[in-house]
Amino acid sequence: MNQRRRVTIFAAAGAAVAVTAGAVVAVSANGATDQFDASGTSAQADAPAPFGESNLPTGEPNSGAATSDSTTPDERAIPTSKKRKLARTFAVKTKDPVFFITVDDGNTKNAAALKYVTTNKIPATVFLTNAAVAGQWDYFRKFAAAGGTVENHTMTHRSLTSGGTPLSYEICRPQAIYGAKFGRIPTLLRPPYGNGGYVTTAKKTRKAIDATASACGIQHVVMWNAVAENGSFKFIRGSLKRGDIVLFHFTPNLAGELKTVMRMAAKKGLHPAPLTNYLK
Ligand SMILES: [Zn+2]
Repeated sequence: MNQRRRVTIFAAAGAAVAVTAGAVVAVSANGATDQFDASGTSAQADAPAPFGESNLPTGEPNSGAATSDSTTPDERAIPTSKKRKLARTFAVKTKDPVFFITVDDGNTKNAAALKYVTTNKIPATVFLTNAAVAGQWDYFRKFAAAGGTVENHTMTHRSLTSGGTPLSYEICRPQAIYGAKFGRIPTLLRPPYGNGGYVTTAKKTRKAIDATASACGIQHVVMWNAVAENGSFKFIRGSLKRGDIVLFHFTPNLAGELKTVMRMAAKKGLHPAPLTNYLK
């Protein structure tokens, strides 16, 4: 209980910063390139982010709307839980010398990245979009088996605020599918489009997302406060700090980005930890 309370307060502090420092944080939680744009001219909290979260890259056989799961024979039954407001987290407040690696979507199955996390036993929390990963479970199973977990980044990566597909389809269907494919029902949800896809949206919409998600086993909404993009890093607190949640994507750059952040971490005496160990 204590842990939850501390995390929630910290997340709320992050939201307050978003109000007072508009350009910086409003875009940050979208993971946008101009997240730290000193000019501060591009703060559009609800604008689609140009980086990663705008849409799923094409060119992979399983990108786009998934239809293959209509034939999935085994979906895990989801226990119902009491509907409540979800905790949301931008970074973790902890005294441990840890930070958190999160990797989103799933379009590129990069062999070098998998080898790196497996060889070095790096716990990565992977937020998968079913449309990007369906049918290629082994890669992600191995990726998470290095110490991390598979979590929920929706069925199709459509904005949860758009009303385009039912929330129960976008949020709860992956719970059942991932539960069956990975042997564990996710507890963490990362809505597509970050802040604009959740935090800054109308309270009524957010409540509907919370109610749907908590009813199918989600306990936390996870944002981030650092981004790896095209081999470079942007940290909201200036450099890698204890408790940072770093956003990566499954791209061809992933292995290099992971090596870079691990070098940064080593210099500061930090090591990556499973997010689920800190978000109870
Ligand atoms: Zn995404």
